[in-house]
Amino acid sequence: MDSRFIHSTSFLRCNDKSENEINNGDEERISKNSVGSPLCMSGGDGDNSYSTNSLLQRRVLSKAKPVLIKNTKELMINLNFPRYIKVTDLGCSSGQNTFLAMSEIINTINVLCQERNQDPPEIDCCLNDLPNNDFNTTFKFIQFFNEKNTTSKELYFVSGVPGSFYSRLFPRRSLHLVHSSYGLHWLSKVPEGLEENKMSIYIHNSSPLSTYKAYLNQFQRDFTTFLKLRAEEMVSNGCMVLTFIGRSTIDNPLHRDCCHFWTLLSKALCDLVVEGLVSASKVNSFYIPFYDPNEKEVKEMVEKEGSFEIKDLETHGYDLGHCNQDETKRSKSGKNEANYIRAVSEPLLVAHFGDAIINILFNKFAHHVSQHASCKNKTTVSIVVSLTRKKTFLMS
Ligand code: SAH
Repeated sequence: MDSRFIHSTSFLRCNDKSENEINNGDEERISKNSVGSPLCMSGGDGDNSYSTNSLLQRRVLSKAKPVLIKNTKELMINLNFPRYIKVTDLGCSSGQNTFLAMSEIINTINVLCQERNQDPPEIDCCLNDLPNNDFNTTFKFIQFFNEKNTTSKELYFVSGVPGSFYSRLFPRRSLHLVHSSYGLHWLSKVPEGLEENKMSIYIHNSSPLSTYKAYLNQFQRDFTTFLKLRAEEMVSNGCMVLTFIGRSTIDNPLHRDCCHFWTLLSKALCDLVVEGLVSASKVNSFYIPFYDPNEKEVKEMVEKEGSFEIKDLETHGYDLGHCNQDETKRSKSGKNEANYIRAVSEPLLVAHFGDAIINILFNKFAHHVSQHASCKNKTTVSIVVSLTRKKTFLMS
């Protein structure tokens, strides 16, 4: 008899109440600080949705796969093959990507248990994102997930956890494995003090140094908060595999390559100002709540916070599928990148500029991307880091 039971209730637990004093209500300020609405990806499964335009993030998941597999195996061994494992995907978004990561984890555990002749554990898969996320679109993919795991011997459960990962989401010492891909470069809010950064929505080559400092400071606060909260929630020897957008430059903190997506989106917005479709002051009051750290910054922050030990730290090329061949291919790559960036930024842009400009904005953006199709010296990368929760000696 098939010993597999699937209990995919897909219910939503609202755990977001316990906003921790560590982050001092930063979340609340997201909406007040020029962004206008909480961050979320474009929902549904239409042409402009995240679900339809997240192939790039799928490629990122596959590059990080070896680190995820290695760490999942080590976790099982270090914890001496527990009978129950709680796994979370933080920033799961809408669409199928989260299930690719969960399947990888379930499959790795299954194969390892077979190899070592151990009973497979029951696995709790908790999918987290902000409450505005379109969880319904995600849960529609559960059927494919179940079909993909038909050879699995474990009992697994899927649930949704709406809330910010910059707040407490889980009970103390309950989590074994934390996965997060392409969520942690999103800040809890737009930093204060960016007024001097004119006509650009993010750090660019000629931004004042204060802009970099403001962004770094916000990332430091957010990432440290994230580590502290996960340290509370995780068991000793628990493991995290985190992937985010970063930069490969160490020396000049303002350097962003000429084809950086926020640089090109800023250019597209400036085009709209020139055409009289948007006012300069509107552009000057919009900033992206995003930061792309380099490896050194990540390493220093993890070491300073102190709860985790770094096991793996890798960077991978960030590939938006540019090509420098003929005109048609260049224009296609421009359109593709426009779709990716639109899917992750449209709700933020609409909240500030309204929806009338969105089509024209991304046509301009696609044009700028195609002009940069032959750029070679890209400094945008994906950073993958795996961390182990250091042993805690608590009295209780
Ligand atoms: N992991 C998915 C989604 C990446 S998109 C993938 O690989 O395809 C990033 C996701 O992180 C978005 O859905 C966004 O809503 C979520 N996110 C950003 N900040 C968050 C926060 N503070 N708490 C929870 N989720 C967050």
